Amino acid sequence: MKNKNNYDYLLADLTKLNGVGKKTMEILKKKKVNNIFDLLWRLPKSYTDRTLVSKICDLQIGKVQTIRITPLKYQFPRIRNLPNRVNCIDETGKIDCIFFNSYDGYVKKILPLNEEVTISGKISSYKGRYQVTNPTYVSQDSSLIETINNKYSLTEGITEKTYNKIINQILKNLPRLNEWHDKEVLIKFDNQNWNDSIIKLHDPANIGNYKENFYKRLAYDEIFASFLVNSEIRKKIKKIKKISKKFTQKTHNNIINKLDFNLTNDQNKSLNDINKDLNSKSKMFRLLQGDVGSGKTIVSLISSLNVISSGFQVALMAPTEILARQHYTLAKKLFPRNIHIALLSSKSENIEKKKIINELKNNKIKMVFGTHAIFQKKVLFKNLGYIIIDEQHKFGVRQRKLLSDKGGNNCDVLLMSATPIPRTLTMSIYGDMDVSIIREKPNNRKEIKTYSKLENKIDDVIRFVKKEINEGNQIFWVCPLIEESKKLDHQSSVIKYKFLNKLFPNKVALLHGKIENDEKEEILNKFLKKEYSILVSTTIIEVGIDFPNANVIIIENANKFGLSQLHQLRGRVGRGIKQASCILMFKSNLSANAKKRINILKNSNDGFEISEEDMKLRGFGDLLGFKQSGIKNFKLADPIQNEDLFLLAEEQIKKIEKENLSINKYKGLLKLYDQADIINDMV
Ligand code: ADP
Ligand code: MG
Repeated sequence: MKNKNNYDYLLADLTKLNGVGKKTMEILKKKKVNNIFDLLWRLPKSYTDRTLVSKICDLQIGKVQTIRITPLKYQFPRIRNLPNRVNCIDETGKIDCIFFNSYDGYVKKILPLNEEVTISGKISSYKGRYQVTNPTYVSQDSSLIETINNKYSLTEGITEKTYNKIINQILKNLPRLNEWHDKEVLIKFDNQNWNDSIIKLHDPANIGNYKENFYKRLAYDEIFASFLVNSEIRKKIKKIKKISKKFTQKTHNNIINKLDFNLTNDQNKSLNDINKDLNSKSKMFRLLQGDVGSGKTIVSLISSLNVISSGFQVALMAPTEILARQHYTLAKKLFPRNIHIALLSSKSENIEKKKIINELKNNKIKMVFGTHAIFQKKVLFKNLGYIIIDEQHKFGVRQRKLLSDKGGNNCDVLLMSATPIPRTLTMSIYGDMDVSIIREKPNNRKEIKTYSKLENKIDDVIRFVKKEINEGNQIFWVCPLIEESKKLDHQSSVIKYKFLNKLFPNKVALLHGKIENDEKEEILNKFLKKEYSILVSTTIIEVGIDFPNANVIIIENANKFGLSQLHQLRGRVGRGIKQASCILMFKSNLSANAKKRINILKNSNDGFEISEEDMKLRGFGDLLGFKQSGIKNFKLADPIQNEDLFLLAEEQIKKIEKENLSINKYKGLLKLYDQADIINDMV
């Protein structure tokens, strides 16, 4: 195959390769390998398994992890189809290694009794015990784990041999690409060019050499490409011209005078950022980021009032109805009476819904609150000027862009998120937006006292709960989601509910995944009205709702949560004047690592700080919520290992933006790394 001077070869269909037929192509397509370029990132296995060395008590179900364990006992059943089992321990817990279709001799050889070995594999749980089936790497020397295995982790239906044939063919035919980076950048990677780097990447001798220049160069390519895409989107949105909204201090004071508190400096600063944007002639696309309880809602409402007095309509979308209702109620309280606002709820009568839809169409309703239902096709606005989206960190770049298009050119967009993210990630996650941050908490907040308790000390906890209830306080009791089974999740919360209900009859409510939305909202509303003292639930309470009277949160099996998630949960309490407490419960004694994590939480109440630490300890993929989001999935780059590359890319992008440099020489890079071509998709 020729075509060596352009990108067509790399973006060509896989059937262009010798030895790849329709069948192989289909198999690879299922793995999201659509062309030759995509195939380049299917790496020898040990690259992709960035294994984690864990203690048993810290294991996470469903992940490939590495542990050092001591085999204690063999269970070799003499029945066909039953697997061989080896009971193993470390100082923190137990785990079984399971081997299907294996010889006893083999198992004994790799897991000798009473000798410490290092194994690696996907962790599962069976009848309440951790297990790992056919561990992939097994070694007595942990330093060997990375190097002994250089197999490509492919895919049923394609043999190792075929795969090697394909990849060698590609490497031999790599086109010469023009360098896209500046000299000053390239020198940092010892001038490694793209081609040589790719070839080195696939050399088995280089497995695990992710600190080498060729690897860093390639990681930098993808970081830079993703930042550049985001930056281009931002530039494009900024170029959109709109009718500016007028701004008067009087409108603001209208609300501010009704508050029984002063805005914090950061709230004022964010409000200024937003007002400046609303007032300008280009479209706003801004993120308001602030820890739980930092007071984002009020900022969004004050800014809305300006938009309304400029003759435009506002739509505020929340992730749940109950949250939409809370925002609506607050606006009702604060807005001047003559401003007509509405809550579009799925529970409203049809007649009422129709009325709201009509009054949005004829501009009688100035602001509407609701869930994503407010963006249904039949909901039309006369003059929508401002969209506010609350708690939607799970929106990816693409969804946000759609949203920004939705309202038309005159519509400004504000996203609010209580999910602080480490600084290195801001550009990759929110690089398409301008960002305002509220770091400071309202100064009337008391610190939430955080305790840890072993589960067998539950009597102490109950005594504490009793005391709090007697004082008229409310309590959240969180049972963790059991990942592998919705049913178990349901069971564990039901059991806890029954247990607590016996102790506190008629005072306990239960929320779990199986409860329908309507009923959920009803339970939450009753809890808000203090009809119950304890709310047993899974993590549904995480999102945004303000329960000023709840001041205790108890989180069971707290090990199962990331620190940021625990911080978010903890932020559900401590909104009122009373001292708030958070009790983290654990099944067994904490390992040193787990203790370290919990101490971070006890010592800090700053979500940004916690998220940094959380990322360092648990890895990037685990950061709250982003696992499911549309966030860029890096092929090689790792925000923890490659922090310097993220900073370098940010610096370069800022330079391009500031000096208004042409991005022409990066066209090839973007073509390869942003195949969806999100920039040119834009209007
Ligand atoms: P979040 O940023 O998590 O969305 P909210 O907007 O729900 O936070 O605000 C949490 C609580 O803090 C609300 O009860 C709100 O009235 C209150 N609040 C907001 N700003 C201040 C402030 N500057 N001083 C005191 N309380 C405030
Ligand atoms: Mg909020």
